[in-house]
Amino acid sequence: SMASPALLMRVVASAYSVAEKAATIVRNVMSGGDLGIVEKAGPNDLQTKADRLVQMSICASLARKFPKVTIIGEEDLPADDVTEDLIEDGHCEEILKKPCPAQYAGIKEEELVIWVDPLDGTKEYTEGLLDHVTVLIGIAYGGKAIAGVINQPYYNYEAGANAVLGRTIWGVLGMGAFGFQLTEAPAGKHIVITTRSHSNALVNECISALNPDHVIRVGGAGNKIIQLIEGKASAYVFASPGCKKWDTCAPEAILHAVGGKITDIRGNSFQYNKEVKHMNSAGVLATLRNYDYYASRIPKTVKETLVP
Ligand code: AMP
Ligand code: MG
Ligand code: MG
Repeated sequence: SMASPALLMRVVASAYSVAEKAATIVRNVMSGGDLGIVEKAGPNDLQTKADRLVQMSICASLARKFPKVTIIGEEDLPADDVTEDLIEDGHCEEILKKPCPAQYAGIKEEELVIWVDPLDGTKEYTEGLLDHVTVLIGIAYGGKAIAGVINQPYYNYEAGANAVLGRTIWGVLGMGAFGFQLTEAPAGKHIVITTRSHSNALVNECISALNPDHVIRVGGAGNKIIQLIEGKASAYVFASPGCKKWDTCAPEAILHAVGGKITDIRGNSFQYNKEVKHMNSAGVLATLRNYDYYASRIPKTVKETLVP
């Protein structure tokens, strides 16, 4: 008989379905009209009812299936509020059928850490910039981001009523990434993508130093990585603290699975073991191609200002 699928593939297959349920919650909260906005650190650090419900849904659903996996979610929530309607127990059959990369075939539950951003781009969600929003489920092993799921609940929302709304992108290192069309950015152009709602003097100074042809300012770490792998931008540059491990884990796995590279602004790789500091204090630099071009042009003063 067939051996049962490797744990990693079962986790990714479940995360796929859990992220689709999450997307439904994100859309239902918006159409319900009451976002239940709470300020966390301040007016640019918000939490909505969707952030809360989705985190409960993702964390409880995955914990029920994989009780020994460490799951770290962005939101601070009481543990006992999860109702049965938030639980997703399905999985994606197509993912389960794919062979696990050999180097990950023996992974045990207690060796995995899952980083959950239930709703990335909350500020933009509250402002109706709906396609900036993503749901991020990143899977780490040995401190490395090795697999990830990004759901974009409002993909296609401006394409009219007949367009299929939402999509799920997933990837595993050594296997590739799926659910989108890998596209190169325009050759010979430097299109920098960065924050929309968390800019500061250093963020802008760093971008100016790169002398870009064009700058795209949008919300969400997940959204910006999607724009890199779809050729809309050539580098994601964020010279500031603020971005956390749950923002970068799933995007990193997917970007690395297709040959891209993400580091902090000084060129250090991110670690995702459960003890790690949550804040990416030294910012973000990510590209699909030509990483070295951008890394070599980050000003020394910017690197010295951002301490990991
Ligand atoms: P952005 O590109 O501004 O959407 O940021 C990407 C992710 O990092 C989002 O989850 C933001 O909430 C988070 N982030 C970045 N900067 C800050 C900040 N100054 N305060 C709070 N969250 C931030
Ligand atoms: Mg986020
Ligand atoms: Mg979030």
